[in-house]
Amino acid sequence: MLLSDKFGRPITDLRIAITDHCNYKCVYCRTGNEGAVYGDLPFAEYLRMVRVLAGLGIKKIRLTGGEPLLRRGVVDFVRELSQLRSADGEPLELALTTNGHLLAEMAQPLKDAGLRRVTISMDAVDRERFARITRVPNGYDNVLAGVRAAKRAGLKPVKVNCVLLRGFNEDQIIPFGKFAREEGVVLRFIEFMPLEEDRVWSPEVVVTLDEILQRMAEFRPLVEIPHEPSETARRYRFEDGLGEIGIIAPVSHPFCGHCSRVRITSDGKIRTCLFSVWDHDLHAQIQRGASDAQLEQFIRGVILKKEARHHIGEPDFVPASRTMVHIGG
Ligand code: SAM
Repeated sequence: MLLSDKFGRPITDLRIAITDHCNYKCVYCRTGNEGAVYGDLPFAEYLRMVRVLAGLGIKKIRLTGGEPLLRRGVVDFVRELSQLRSADGEPLELALTTNGHLLAEMAQPLKDAGLRRVTISMDAVDRERFARITRVPNGYDNVLAGVRAAKRAGLKPVKVNCVLLRGFNEDQIIPFGKFAREEGVVLRFIEFMPLEEDRVWSPEVVVTLDEILQRMAEFRPLVEIPHEPSETARRYRFEDGLGEIGIIAPVSHPFCGHCSRVRITSDGKIRTCLFSVWDHDLHAQIQRGASDAQLEQFIRGVILKKEARHHIGEPDFVPASRTMVHIGG
């Protein structure tokens, strides 16, 4: 039987962090003082986890981190993943989330190895602001080169994720709209969630879906595109058909009821929700010599514990046991 949780949600998407290291220190994500906290595993162990999960119904795999392109051997790992098949015998849909700093050189090799899609995180389309957010000088030009290389390599679609913070980069909404049209990328604004190391989140800092739409409409009218219920983003195109934007609004418009995701951290723990207060040690099972059948049984038990929803902004909200950089977005 394929994986589903106790609320009947089919679990089809896996996000796997392949390193806890990151070369950016984005102000809304990290303190800037701490480096990697958790270890990582040999690729063979991630591969086994993915193979078992694919047999249980996982169809999409997204590599993340930390910064996944920092991990040596990632191209070979993608090639090995591309050999695996889902429970219905299809190739897995392979995607990557990256800050794009190292992508210019790697986009074509990744595509050749079997990567289908890439999402690049950019929180400003202005060099100086980009450096202030990432706390790395000269990143913007590298990332822009990465975006263009990904397009040239035929990774489709190239998506750009932007997290907006009030008082920091909300004036980038219209520049991002122009960027999406000029560069031919699909833009995704993500509402800021309380998953940062520095605990700076407050509801006032979140730039909400409604505000983003209102601001973007001052630039050009938007038309909503129908989306699948399990899709995280509400999607819009500009009225003239050039450029797509989407808004991922977990704070103002939660979509937990359609969540199809499970995550594995770099050190091999399963997380059933970004906001989980505990994780489940899949790697320990491997170390104990578990067979594939035992791993399957363990995974099924874990998935039954998947949380109904997050409690962001509610009085009973308990911070997640790991922050975003140590989970993988
Ligand atoms: N290093 C890769 C990258 O930059 O995309 C992958 C890991 S990063 C943690 C994944 C995504 O999470 C990025 O798009 C980042 O902007 C987003 N992110 C980090 N902290 C967040 C938060 N508190 N709320 C919403 N998104 C966040």
